[in-house]
Amino acid sequence: MRYASIYVLITFAALFFLNIYCAQTSQTLFYQGKKSAMLERCQVTASEIAGLEVLSKSSVSEAISKMSTSKVNRLIVTDRSGVAVYDSATHDSALGEYVLFPEIVTAASGNNVFSWNYHSGTMLSRAAVPVYAYGTMIGCVYMTEYDTSQGMLLQSLLQNIFTITLILEILVVLFSFFFALAFSKRMQKIQSSMRIIREGNYSHKVTLNGRDELTFLAAEVNNLTDRLEIAEAERRQFVSDASHELKTPLASIKLLSDSILQNEMDMETAREFVGDIGNEADRLNRMTQELLSLSKIDAALEREQEILHIAPTIHRVVRMLSGIAQNANITLELALEENCPVLIVEDDLYQIAFNLVENGIKYNTPGGKLTISLRRCEDNAILQFTDTGVGIPESALDHIFERFYRVDKARSRKTGGSGLGLAIVRSMVERNQGQIQVTSTMGQGSVFTVSFPIFDTEEVSQ
Ligand code: ADP
Repeated sequence: MRYASIYVLITFAALFFLNIYCAQTSQTLFYQGKKSAMLERCQVTASEIAGLEVLSKSSVSEAISKMSTSKVNRLIVTDRSGVAVYDSATHDSALGEYVLFPEIVTAASGNNVFSWNYHSGTMLSRAAVPVYAYGTMIGCVYMTEYDTSQGMLLQSLLQNIFTITLILEILVVLFSFFFALAFSKRMQKIQSSMRIIREGNYSHKVTLNGRDELTFLAAEVNNLTDRLEIAEAERRQFVSDASHELKTPLASIKLLSDSILQNEMDMETAREFVGDIGNEADRLNRMTQELLSLSKIDAALEREQEILHIAPTIHRVVRMLSGIAQNANITLELALEENCPVLIVEDDLYQIAFNLVENGIKYNTPGGKLTISLRRCEDNAILQFTDTGVGIPESALDHIFERFYRVDKARSRKTGGSGLGLAIVRSMVERNQGQIQVTSTMGQGSVFTVSFPIFDTEEVSQ
C-alpha cells in the first residue's frame, strides 16, 4: 500500500505541474499573438501620422479618420512633450493634457512597449510606439484593447486543460486503488502461506495465478518448501536410522549384563559375556565417531585443502591395514603412479583410502586379492580399488553410499560395520571436487573408482 500511495502522490504532482505548464504555455501563445498584432497596429498608425508636418488635433484626427480603428478601444496620440493631440475616448478625454501612462513614458524614450492583463475571460492589452519623422521623434501612439472573444477562447482552453487533468487524476487514483488492493491481497496470500510454512507445514503450497513478479516469488517459495520438505524427511530418516542402529548394540549390552546378573555362571562364561559387552561398546564408539565425522562433513571444510601427491598417503593406509589383510589371508597389490598431484584435504584422502581398503579386505574371501592402482588419465588422477571379494548385487549398487545401508547386515555387523563408511567416503570425495563410481559382479569382486582433477604446480607437498 505504501508504494501505491507514493506512486499516486508522484503522479498527482506530475499531473499538477503538467496542468500549470500547459496553462502557462497557452497564455504565452496568446500573449505573443496579441503583442505582435497590437504593435503592428500601433506602427501602422505611427507611420500614417509620421507623414504629417505638424502633429495638431485637426491633422491627426483627419489622418486617423481615414484608418480603420474599430478593434481599438482607445487610441491616444501625443506630441513629443507627451501632450495628447488625439484621444478617441469621448468620456474623460485626455485631449490637450499631459498623458503620463507608463507605456507612453517608455515609448517617449524611443521604445516599443506592450503590456497585457488577463482576467476571467477578458484580455486588456496596451501598446505604445514612438512616431519618427525624418529621424526625429515627433510623438507617440498609444492603444488599448479589451478582447473578450480571444479571452473566452483562452478561458475555455484553460478550462479544458483543467478538466482533462482532473479526469486523469481521478483515473490515476481509481487505478492505483484497485491495483494496490489486488497487490496487497496477493501479498497477504504469500504472507499467510509463509506463516503456515514457518510453523513446520512444509507440504503447504502458495497458489497464485498470473505471470507477474509475485507469481514468480510464490514459485520460489514453493521450490524452497520442496527442498525443506526433502531435507526434513532426510533428517527424520537419519534420526530414526541412527537411533535404530544405536539401539541394537545397547540392547545387546543390556541382555548380556542381565544374563551375568541373573544366571549363576562360571567365570569363563562371565568373562566371555563381558568381552562381548566390550565389543558392543567398541561398536557403539565407532558408530558415534563415524556419525560425528559425517556431521562435520556436512558442515564447512574444517581444514584447508593442499596440493599433494596421492601415492604416499596410499602407502600409509596400506602399512596401517596390512596386518588385518594378513590375518584375513588377503594379498594387497599396489600399482601406483607417483606423479599425481591433487588439491585435497590430506585427512580426507587418508579416510577415503582407509575405508575403501578396509572394505576390500572385509568383503573379500580368504586367499583373495585387493589391487590398488593409481594412474593419470587426461586431467584426472584415477584411484582404483579392485577386490576379488563377494561382490555387490546390482540392485544394491545404487544404495551402498546411503547412510546405514548394508547389503548383508549379518556380515557387516560381524565385521564391525556400521553402514556409514561409504557415505563418509562419498561426502569426502565430493567436497574435494572428486567423483566415485562402483562396478561389481557377484561372486567375483568389486571395483571402486575415485577420480580427482590433477593440480599440476611447482609447490607440491609430499
Ligand atoms: P559397513 O560399515 O557396513 O562396511 P559401508 O558403508 O562401508 O558400511 O558399506 C556399505 C555396504 O556396502 C556394506 O555393508 C557392504 O555390504 C557393501 N560393500 C562395501 N564395500 C564392499 C566391497 N568391497 N565388496 C562387497 N560389498 C561391499
